[in-house]
Amino acid sequence: MIWYPYEQMKTMSPPIKVKDARGVHLYTDDGHDLIDSVSSWWSVIHGYNHPVLNNAIEEQLKHFSHIMLGGLTHNAVEKLSAKLEEWLPADLDYCFFSDSGSVAVEVALKMALQFNTNRGSDRNVILALEHAYHGDTFKAMEVGDDEDYHFAFGKDNEKKSGVVHIPTEIPALENAFENYGERLTCFIVEPLLQGAGGMRMYDISFLKKARELCDKYDVLLIFDEVATGFGRTGNRFVADLVLPDILVLGKALTGGYLGHAVTVANKKVFDGFYSDNPAHALMHGPTFMGNALACSVALKSIELFENEDYMGKIKHIEDVFKSEMNNFSDERIKDVRCMGGCFCVEVRDRKTLDGFKKFAFDNGVFARPFLDYMYTMVPYVINDDELMQIICVMKKWFER
Ligand SMILES: *Cc1c(COP(=O)(O)O)cnc(C)c1O
Repeated sequence: MIWYPYEQMKTMSPPIKVKDARGVHLYTDDGHDLIDSVSSWWSVIHGYNHPVLNNAIEEQLKHFSHIMLGGLTHNAVEKLSAKLEEWLPADLDYCFFSDSGSVAVEVALKMALQFNTNRGSDRNVILALEHAYHGDTFKAMEVGDDEDYHFAFGKDNEKKSGVVHIPTEIPALENAFENYGERLTCFIVEPLLQGAGGMRMYDISFLKKARELCDKYDVLLIFDEVATGFGRTGNRFVADLVLPDILVLGKALTGGYLGHAVTVANKKVFDGFYSDNPAHALMHGPTFMGNALACSVALKSIELFENEDYMGKIKHIEDVFKSEMNNFSDERIKDVRCMGGCFCVEVRDRKTLDGFKKFAFDNGVFARPFLDYMYTMVPYVINDDELMQIICVMKKWFER
């Protein structure tokens, strides 16, 4: 049987079975038409079954679907890497591919650690944020701060000794660098928007200060833009505003077509490995890194993003949310927040959201609220009618 994610298998309600998907619509086996308000975990930015993306995969398939990058290379991965080199800011040029966001985070952390080892430093503390989510593999869980994973680290998190978590507040940041600055390998953040930790949004000034302190204390700054990348915050990448040393991209990298991710290092990091000493090489190599189908579709996805004014589409989505939710309030709502293509209603009591998923389904929307959060991260190709349908469902839930 299928063991489903994040579910108590004994009590879970049966998942919705999808037969077809096109644009922002999911078509179920039993004839329902649902607007996908979460873009399949925030990845399907161009919608489903996009002809240009389908074609990219079909063309590559005529040659091969996969060859390993160990000792071999191919056009699709070379083109994607060249594109990222040109497209990403400054000297974020060195692309290490992997098959998922979690693995790409592991690679980033390993890079930061070995960068320091290679230069003879014994720094061993990682700075991270409270409420952080960086994936489900072990080191990613450790730098994360999610109650659901505390089982792995004991009651008091005593096994997380190498990680310090701080809130997104400048005094806490300054304090952490004062206390640990000389011992830090890196500071890893989801910039501006913490997704799975509750769609928490914070100010760019925090990141500017972080950059300043990382420079002062010679600490690598890692942006995990697996969720925020490709426009989700209303910026192409937050890295366009504040420059990290290592950037992690995933989710929307392939337009949600195939699992793939990339850890992009700047020249300083790359040079820390580049030497005549074989022991200074990065010893990592996921079997499916640089998969040709994934790279072909990722390249086309970026071209669509560039050529079809996606930043304009995202701005429009944000404007519609803001004007529609302006003046909307309810005593059960704690906070309404919006940033780019992410919109979140936080309730005071999570019981308020019991039954919302079913209510949304009955009104033609697929939603997946969690904890105290009702949220949407729509595909950017959504039209106004479809967007209004999602917003109406959210409002109607409180007007019943
Ligand atoms: C989803 C996510 C990950 C993990 O990506 P997977 O592809 O699920 O392994 C890592 N970091 C952030 C910020 C994410 O949102």
